[in-house]
Amino acid sequence: MTERSVPPPDDWAARALRDLAADAAPTPLRPVRLPALPEIDLYVKDESAHPTGSVKHRLLRELFRAAVQDGTLIEGTPVVMGSGGAAAVAGAYFARLLGLPFTAVLPRTAPAAVHDRIAAHGGRCRTGELPPAAVLEEARTLAGRTGGRFLDHFAAAGRSPDGPAPMPDLGTEILDGLRGARHPVPRWLVTGAGTGATSASLGRHLRRHGLPTRLAVADPEHSAYFPAWASGCDDYATGMPSRIPGIGRPRTEPGFRPELIDLVVPVPDTASVAAMRWLHRTAGLACGPATGTALWAACHLAARLRAEGTGGGLVLLAGDGAEPYRTTHLDAGWLAAKGLEPAPYEAELARFAESGRWTWPPASR
Ligand SMILES: *Cc1c(COP(=O)(O)O)cnc(C)c1O
Repeated sequence: MTERSVPPPDDWAARALRDLAADAAPTPLRPVRLPALPEIDLYVKDESAHPTGSVKHRLLRELFRAAVQDGTLIEGTPVVMGSGGAAAVAGAYFARLLGLPFTAVLPRTAPAAVHDRIAAHGGRCRTGELPPAAVLEEARTLAGRTGGRFLDHFAAAGRSPDGPAPMPDLGTEILDGLRGARHPVPRWLVTGAGTGATSASLGRHLRRHGLPTRLAVADPEHSAYFPAWASGCDDYATGMPSRIPGIGRPRTEPGFRPELIDLVVPVPDTASVAAMRWLHRTAGLACGPATGTALWAACHLAARLRAEGTGGGLVLLAGDGAEPYRTTHLDAGWLAAKGLEPAPYEAELARFAESGRWTWPPASR
């Protein structure tokens, strides 16, 4: 027997698929106590526990798996992505896992922390020359020019329902995690939507298994998703960027599937920030602003269940952790400069936790 130092291509692909499969580990489901609502069980599905700290880890693992499997990603292929944040960080991680060179095209507005995190995973960063929304196109062009493989996480999220599930096992993981709980089948799942992959995957899971659980999307200001869902206009665009990283889009992305979503709840950005802070203070969970958006919507739904007199379980997605937001959404000066004043919304949450009564939006007008 002789050892080969360089495995032949088939071995490379086989090993890549094994390494990707070995990376998959379930993330924790964390209970959040609501003392004034004893009939409600609220859980946070903590996607910040992935090695790259966000739910994009799941999406990118599947993207790499599909590309290796269909033979479009082979040994030595340079990988190129266009993203302003967590997706590119996860892309850099998986490229390094498979030993592939990685370049991210970032918008000019990307914070230094994102550059640092991509570099920490061995990736290279380029700053796009066009407006932020054009980084996907710039990345595609760069890949074409350099013989690289462009990974388009927005297009992948919109793949047909019969294709590979872009967010494998998220629904299964949540339901497995609730086995033996008082309410093993939740009344609601609540998530934000960026590419739309998470909500589409959850919606399909619920339908495939015939579950009575309903799916809510919590949507930040400026996002096209709430108006698209409410109006039935599937190419709705606002043209305005979201201030809640990871969720809310200026246009309706191909992965957003309104027909799988029972309710879209528009959430003010200040409420998202307040809910993020409240979750940290009262439950010790250091999550990002998008989790605040989902939590605000979940409170609204918990109050509804209480009003119906039924109780039940609610699971909300924590798409990332607090760490990347120390100098932005967690910083008082940054919030003030953006005109975000979370105190009244935090008071609303505290009132809700104490009384179980939800009075948002105020009835006046
Ligand atoms: C991407 C993202 C989501 C939503 O995920 P999609 O599957 O892209 O819709 C939620 N939270 C955070 C923090 C994200 O980065």
